[in-house]
Order: sequence, then C-alpha cells, then structure tokens
Amino acid sequence: MNQPIFDVIIVGGGLVGASLAASLRHTPLRIAVLDLQPWATATTEVISYDERVIALNYLSKQILQGIGVWQEGMKYSVPIQQIHVSEQGGFGFTRFMAQELNLPALGYVIPANQLLQTIQSVVTPDTAPNITIFTPAQLVQLHFQPDCVTATITTGTITQSLAARLIIAADGGNSQVRQLLKIECREFHYEQAAIIANVSTEYPHQQIAYERFGRAGTIALLPLQSNLCSLVWSVKTAQQDEYMQLSDKIFLARLQQHFGWRLGRFLKLGQRAAHPLRLMHISQLIQPHVAFIGNAAHTLHPVAGQGFNLGLRDVASLADLLSQTAPEAIGNQEILQNYVARQHPDHQRVITITDSLVRTFSSDLLPMRWARNLSLLAIDALPPLKKLFVQQMTGLSAYPSRLTSGLTVQVETKE
Ligand SMILES: Cc1cc2nc3c(=O)[nH]c(=O)nc-3n(C[C@H](O)[C@H](O)[C@H](O)COP(=O)(O)OP(=O)(O)OC[C@H]3O[C@@H](n4cnc5c(N)ncnc54)[C@H](O)[C@@H]3O)c2cc1C
Repeated sequence: MNQPIFDVIIVGGGLVGASLAASLRHTPLRIAVLDLQPWATATTEVISYDERVIALNYLSKQILQGIGVWQEGMKYSVPIQQIHVSEQGGFGFTRFMAQELNLPALGYVIPANQLLQTIQSVVTPDTAPNITIFTPAQLVQLHFQPDCVTATITTGTITQSLAARLIIAADGGNSQVRQLLKIECREFHYEQAAIIANVSTEYPHQQIAYERFGRAGTIALLPLQSNLCSLVWSVKTAQQDEYMQLSDKIFLARLQQHFGWRLGRFLKLGQRAAHPLRLMHISQLIQPHVAFIGNAAHTLHPVAGQGFNLGLRDVASLADLLSQTAPEAIGNQEILQNYVARQHPDHQRVITITDSLVRTFSSDLLPMRWARNLSLLAIDALPPLKKLFVQQMTGLSAYPSRLTSGLTVQVETKE
C-alpha cells in the first residue's frame, strides 16, 4: 500500500468525533480525523451557526474532565442546580434538586459551538502529534480489503486515499459512512420541530432548568451565562413556519402565554433556528473495520437532552477499548463486539425513555393528561422514584466504574 496508513480514521469531527480524537491524543495510535468544516483552535473566533446549547449531564461533565477539556469548558457553562418539570394547565409538577442527591450540580449548560471549540482546540499538531486533521475534507468512498479499509477523501480539488484498520463513523445523523455501506436504520419522524433561541427574562434564572409540557408543545428553558436562557420549543411541524415568521414581540407573547410567569416577563429574543425532530437508530453498530458513534448511530428528540450525552458515552467506551488494544489488533471484530456489548443496552434504554417521553407528553387525550399529572406528583412525593429519575438524567445509572483507562470517571459529591 502506498497511501498514508493510519490505525483509525474518524469521519466527522463534530462534538462526538472531536471528543474521541481528544480522548485518544495520548495513545500511540496513528489517527486521521476529517470534517467538512474547518477545525477550531483556542484563538479561532467561535462561529455561531445556531444558538444550540447542550445540557451536559453530570456523567458527561465527568467524562469531559477525564478527557482534559472541562477546565476550559466550565468557563462557558452554567451549573444546573434544579430542574422544574410541569404541565401547562395541569396540577402536577416535580422538582429535581442537586442537593437532594448530594451532587455539586445535576448538569451543566454550555453553548454547543463553545464546547466544540474547547474540544477541538486540544487536538493540535503540538498537543496531539499522533493525530492528522484533514479539513475541510469530505469522505466520498470506502474500499474494503481483508485487513484494512481505504477511504477516498476530497480536500478542495485534491482527491486522496487514506488506509486504516478501523473507520469510526462520527459523521452525524445523515452519516455518509452509513449511506455508503447501505446500513439499515429505523426512523420515526415526530412531525415536530425544535425552535431554538436565546431569551432574556425579568427575573434571574437562579440556575434552574425548566421543562414545561403543554398543548403548544414542550418548552425547555435552560440557564445560560449573562442571565440569559436558552429556549428549545418543540412545536408541530405544521406550525414551524408560523412560529419562525412571527415578530419577536408576538413570539415572546406566545411564549409567555404557554410558559407562564415563573421567570417574570420575557424581555428580548435572540435569533431563531428550527430543527426537524426524528428518532433514528441503526440496527448494527459495527461492521468489519467500522464502528458507529454519536448521531451517526442514534439521533434523538432533544426533549430529554440526551443525544450528545449518549454519544459521549460511546466515546468513553470506545476510547477505553482502543487505548488498551495493540495497534495491530485495532479493527479486530472481538474488540468491536465489546463496544457493542457496552453501548447497545445504553442506546436501547435512552431511546426507549426519550421516545416514551415524547409520545406521552404529545398526547392531548384527557386520561393521558391526568396520568402525566399524577406521575409528576408521584415523582415529587416519592423520594426513591425521584432518585431513580435523577440517576437516569444525570447519567449515573449508566455508570458502573467500568472505564478502566485514563478516562476513569470519578463521582464526586458536594463537600
Ligand atoms: C435543538 C437541539 C437541542 C439539543 N440539545 C441537546 C442537549 O441539551 N443535550 C444533549 O446531550 N444533546 C442535545 N442535542 C443533540 C446533540 O446536538 C447531538 O447529539 C450532537 O450534536 C451529535 O454530535 P455528533 O458529533 O454525533 O454529530 P454532528 O454534530 O452532526 O457532527 C457530525 C460532523 O460530521 C461532519 N461530516 C458529515 N458528513 C461528513 C463527510 N461526508 N465527510 C466528512 N465529515 C462529515 C460534519 O461536518 C459534522 O462536523 C440537541 C439537538 C438538537 C437538534
């Protein structure tokens, strides 16, 4: 072979692919990462392609800390001390509090582009000499041989081939790797879109995240720095255009009507963006010489804020396995089977919870509304049930101290 030879090629350097690259930067593995977008450095101006923010659960913060990017990331984040869940016009509500679990926070909210820059900027020629970045570059073809796979990529007008023992598909919900390999996926369109924007409010958010279910869809308000809140409003697809075209004033009035007055008056609205919402997951997480991680493997409704959190656990599992594997054994099916054994049950659990939540809270039927309100009251009144929920939300239910590499996750408690 006369192409450059790598142990691993990571296709996609978004939040998940970049996290994997960052977590493998101290290993002897020779790694290539390619992405359609330029790679950020510590001094790159953060490009805001939209106002998406990520609610990291507690376990994800621990994983990012293990990767060595949290110290920088925490500068841009706000801890979530409380989550308040309610239904418009209903009698039930529930609150989850960090102090009840003796945790420093239930999670952390951080702008997605800031998080991406923080992760990418630890992967540079100086800090990660084992990693070669190809950007802006596009994967166009894959060619399999018995002991390796060759990726044809284009960078501008240049086409080149890279060979590796393992391709990791981290190329998002419309994964090119998945399409090239004709991997079957299960898909369900919720006929909903998430409208996201930053809003300022009359009262400070006090590090409380709100989730309010109602006839006009689900409203999530997450605490941001400068006392802003990040709005994620899941509306019916049929209403998306209307909500995107309303004047700021009328949009805020609608939001006030459906969210209520817990944060006082909504004062100012940032730029809006809309994302169609669907559930997608693939039937096979691995193929010979290929593994899928992040949104390329599972794309979720953001109602429970679990997509990246789950993708980061894929990263932790795979990095843990790869960092303990001799380079010549990378791509070995037994290693990849271990990744499936670790992550498949986690995927099934999170997909089931998220999908049930969307369906339960999308129904307008009166018995369903009663059932939801009673459930919210029951969760609030029954500490063991509440604890179970918080463990799911914080990711701690997915935490056996199973990560044995440098990514070992430590659960700290509030002093
Ligand atoms: C409105 C909304 C709110 C959300 N909120 C949360 C939240 O609070 N918490 C949470 O955990 N998750 C949340 N998510 C989910 C989260 O955003 C995703 O799970 C996460 O961004 C997935 O990261 P990824 O790296 O797998 O995919 P992506 O972010 O899609 O990255 C894929 C990368 O691959 C590159 N790429 C694609 N094709 C190619 C190709 N052919 N060649 C080379 N490169 C390629 C792309 O340029 C991109 O950089 C939310 C999602 C939405 C829509």
